[in-house]
Amino acid sequence: MGAGIGNGCSVTGGAAGGPYRLAARRDPLQRTVVRVGEAVFSGGRPVVIAGPCAVESREQTLAAARTVRAAGGQMLRGGAFKPRTSPYSFQGLGEEGLRLLAEAREATGLPVVTEVLEPEQVPLVAHYADMLQVGSRNMANFPLLRGVGRSERPVLLKRGMSATVEEWLMAAEYILEAGNPNVVLCERGIRSFDPLLRFTLDLNAVPLARELSHLPVIVDPSHGTGRRSLVRAMSVAAIAAGADGLIVEMHPDRGAALCDGEQSIAPDELVEIVRATDALGAALAPAPALVA
Ligand code: PEP
Ligand code: MN
Repeated sequence: MGAGIGNGCSVTGGAAGGPYRLAARRDPLQRTVVRVGEAVFSGGRPVVIAGPCAVESREQTLAAARTVRAAGGQMLRGGAFKPRTSPYSFQGLGEEGLRLLAEAREATGLPVVTEVLEPEQVPLVAHYADMLQVGSRNMANFPLLRGVGRSERPVLLKRGMSATVEEWLMAAEYILEAGNPNVVLCERGIRSFDPLLRFTLDLNAVPLARELSHLPVIVDPSHGTGRRSLVRAMSVAAIAAGADGLIVEMHPDRGAALCDGEQSIAPDELVEIVRATDALGAALAPAPALVA
């Protein structure tokens, strides 16, 4: 195992050799299946979650949800509480955004995932959402990890943009240790040096996290690149690397997006991505065991 994490305080090694005891994969066949309505992570078919960065309006949210449904995606995403770098940027619609997500679920049957920013918000977000997202900027917010760990809702845990894979698994450990077994890991790009890219999608992390942990691993090619033109290629690459699914930003009217329009794909591009993802997922399905 690598060097100790964060504050350098020592932790006792887990049974599988890592300091994460509950997140560690104990044998090569151990895989946790996480179900969120019709979306089944690690269930064989890659799960495609799509929708806008932020919930902006009723019209936008319903249009996005209908597009995701028509394209064959299994879940709707959309932020109601947004963690923005600038306090002057659009912060999200708050509870009204959660209501719109619930309405979109009613209209389409798609389960919804949305971000929770602080421990106090967990009951409110869990009341409306099917899955709680812990964002990159909050991966090491330990009170929040404990808070979602006490929730009944499955959790989508994004990797911190400067976090090692071990730190990410330790964050998952907090959630598991608090009693919530339904954690899906999400690689969303790490900080690197190229100003042409918002982040650098670390595809090494996908097979590595799946080797070290039994938890499902999905990929966010939108934040991982910051460029719409790269999203399809990196979606395909993520599935080829073994990802159990994708979370993709798609906006029905990209030019008008209040948040992350540059990396949001258009509806027809989502159709392409779901098609490619399904074809590749089927092609890469494990072969039946050889009978001697
Ligand atoms: C998001 O999914 O909109 C988001 C803010 O992602 P991240 O936490 O990965 O930046
Ligand atoms: Mn975004």
